[in-house]
Amino acid sequence: MNLSKDFYLNFHAHQQEPGEDEIVIQSQFLQQNFTMQSDGKIFYTAGLHPWHAGQMSLDQIEKKLGKFISEKKIIAIGESGLDKLKGAKWETQFQVFKKHIEISEKFQLPLVIHSVKAHNEILKLKKDTRARSNWVIHNFTGSKQMAMDFIDHGFYLSICHHIKNKNSRINHFFHQLPKDKIFLETDDFDISIKELYQIAADKMEISIEKLKLQLILNLQAFLNDNKTG
Ligand SMILES: [Zn+2]
Repeated sequence: MNLSKDFYLNFHAHQQEPGEDEIVIQSQFLQQNFTMQSDGKIFYTAGLHPWHAGQMSLDQIEKKLGKFISEKKIIAIGESGLDKLKGAKWETQFQVFKKHIEISEKFQLPLVIHSVKAHNEILKLKKDTRARSNWVIHNFTGSKQMAMDFIDHGFYLSICHHIKNKNSRINHFFHQLPKDKIFLETDDFDISIKELYQIAADKMEISIEKLKLQLILNLQAFLNDNKTG
């Protein structure tokens, strides 16, 4: 993958198309029909979201993801994960998420995770399964302690619009996160990735140029280093 180091990287979105100097990683919902055409600025991940976890069997998940992987259409597995507030029943979410972990390990592809009130369970799964692929919590909104626990266990954290909000938890410790373990994303919120870069760069007291380079390097590490993590 050849990535321009002066591009803004939107690590996780669903619908958004990349602007002229942007790279977007689009997360596709596995149960839907979609086409994927990567042009060097748009990349894809695919997985069964916990909200939709009842909509496909484990077999169907394996087949459809297996096809995308063999065709080299996706750069990571997900989003999949656990959500205590919404979606399929817990047991179904759990089985589906474990299937994604298994596929991510088998093909040495990183895993993009949706976690709502499930941080402890996800951390435990990472330890119990001894998974070696890179895992990222997208739209991370947890406490500083939780952020540090994740990072200590090799996770990456992708941060969304909450750093804009003065009262959010992430706003208070964002600047203390290790720079080589973070990403920025719009998800499906009405915010531009450029605005998020500006806020993040100000908080970190680094230039936009430096931040752009850092997040591209992070992406390269996240994608390429999936055997030792
Ligand atoms: Zn999402």
